[in-house]
Amino acid sequence: MSLPLVAIVGKPNIGKSTLFNRLVGSRRAIVTDEPGVTRDRIYGEVHDVVHPFRVVDTGGLTPRTAAPFAREIETQAEAALAEAECVLFVVDARDGLTAVDREVAAFLRRRSVPIVVVANKVDSEAQEPLLLELHELGLGTPIGLSAEHGRGMPDLIDAIEEILGRRVPQEGSPDAAVERDRPVRVAIVGRPNAGKSSLLNRLLGEERALVSDIPGTTRDAVDTVLELGEHRFVLVDTAGIRRRGKVELSAEASAVLMARRSIERADVVVLVIDAARGFAAQDAHIAGYAIDAFRPVIVAVNKWDLVEDREAAAKAWSDELRRRLRFARETPVVLVSAKSGQRVAKILDQVTAAHAAACIRVPTPELNRWLGEESRREQGAPVRGSSIRLYYATQTGVNPPSFVLFCNRPAQVHFSLRRRFANSLRRRFGFGPAPIRLEFRSRRGGD
Ligand code: GDP
Repeated sequence: MSLPLVAIVGKPNIGKSTLFNRLVGSRRAIVTDEPGVTRDRIYGEVHDVVHPFRVVDTGGLTPRTAAPFAREIETQAEAALAEAECVLFVVDARDGLTAVDREVAAFLRRRSVPIVVVANKVDSEAQEPLLLELHELGLGTPIGLSAEHGRGMPDLIDAIEEILGRRVPQEGSPDAAVERDRPVRVAIVGRPNAGKSSLLNRLLGEERALVSDIPGTTRDAVDTVLELGEHRFVLVDTAGIRRRGKVELSAEASAVLMARRSIERADVVVLVIDAARGFAAQDAHIAGYAIDAFRPVIVAVNKWDLVEDREAAAKAWSDELRRRLRFARETPVVLVSAKSGQRVAKILDQVTAAHAAACIRVPTPELNRWLGEESRREQGAPVRGSSIRLYYATQTGVNPPSFVLFCNRPAQVHFSLRRRFANSLRRRFGFGPAPIRLEFRSRRGGD
């Protein structure tokens, strides 16, 4: 699973499951049994936020034995904590700080995972003073809320997002390795009859391929795990590709809709095009959507076996795609035949490379050296009568590679300048086809 995990911990009956439901919402309540140590926990997903995440209710930290409470907590919460990127430590604001809370806090402080103290049952402003005491925990500013009534939830979401947003795996750290080494989620998209299902079958039929289906998050979705040597891929929404027939009516439109859905669930997008039919408006839509969603695109020009003058056709395709995908720099193009299998394996090589590129982390000193050079080039370049001054840059995430550039007039950064910076970063640090997220901000409290 690719979404970062947020774990809810706290004493029993403190409102953890109410908070869980409030976060996940009944519409989005997706309860899955995930393999692994936290198998019997309830998971949910939160999507309508900047950094979507999964939530797990660690269940009661109930001391069922006479064992010291802290130890009990350790065994029960350890598993969820091991996977969590962020912990919501829920306390009851009305109880004030209890000895148990202090024990849990001490335990959590020993972990490196970021913690948000959530003071539940703060139902009105009058109760805010209750929060003061919680500062004593030494776990940062507590967030007062009422899980029951929804009060304070936006503050909590902000706090979670802040933590998930600054989660940048350091190169060489276990996090970076996890992000890079987990199975790459691949969406195979394209117009009807481009050959998606043929291609899927060819990929799955590959000798040495180990294939297994996993149920997707919605009832009729199926994802397929494909293992090839040491590489693992999750091909998303494979049911949607195999299911044929009834899409034919408004096929073109629904192809784009289906593609959108799959793109959102994927790390890398494989856009399949029928060599005989050429690049259509729909293909451009789908590619544009993938780029907007910050997913690298690999173009597979399929049915290459039907092409006659291949050399000329290859050149024509390369020109055509360069022209049509001008907004998507360095898009790899693979000329394949699902029918014969020719070059089909190359698609996965490109997928692996694109994902690795999207996971690159630039060491901060190198990033700022780059910024210094850009800044010198920029000096004197007028932006509405004044020039943009760049102060420093920081990478705020990988997959997609995300950067914040601090400057004097963020609102005046023209989109051509933004594009130039993105492409400069791309060339300098080898981001290849991975779309880069750039944000310009003014310095806190500065101009
Ligand atoms: P989908 O709608 O994108 O899933 O497309 P299909 O995989 O169902 O393929 C549509 C048609 O194109 C079928 O008749 C396939 O047999 C044919 N087809 C798919 N790939 C190739 C290919 O590489 N070469 C040739 N000659 N035909 C292909």
